[in-house]
Amino acid sequence: MPDCLFCSIVEGEIPADIVYENEHVLAFKDINPQAPYHALVIPRQHVATVADLETDGMMDELTRAANILARQEGIVEDGYRLVVNCNENGGQAVYHLHMHILGGRAMKWPPG
Ligand code: 5GP
Ligand code: ZN
Repeated sequence: MPDCLFCSIVEGEIPADIVYENEHVLAFKDINPQAPYHALVIPRQHVATVADLETDGMMDELTRAANILARQEGIVEDGYRLVVNCNENGGQAVYHLHMHILGGRAMKWPPG
């Protein structure tokens, strides 16, 4: 997808601190971390929002990668948070589906 920031990261046109990849997904550190550990897991294929998801199993792929990262980071026992923001009210800023994985501190609830 032209002019998509995360597609440009998938294509290697924009650098990112990549922490995990497989044939379906790519994960990299968030440029503006909101927790001691903050990474984003994205599908390689462009999907704008979670509401546009048609591929069976893509959320499974994103979750599986996030869980691998959580184990690698050693944050499973203390806990972590997976977040998918959708559209304006959901607080989505980048319109290429991504799952946030946040850890290393206690999260608040409800979210803002
Ligand atoms: P959203 O609000 O869309 O759920 O989250 C978008 C996330 O992408 C934000 O946490 C933001 O810091 C992150 N982000 C925006 N631009 C870049 C970038 O160029 N590189 C990386 N690594 N993260 C980015
Ligand atoms: Zn994209």
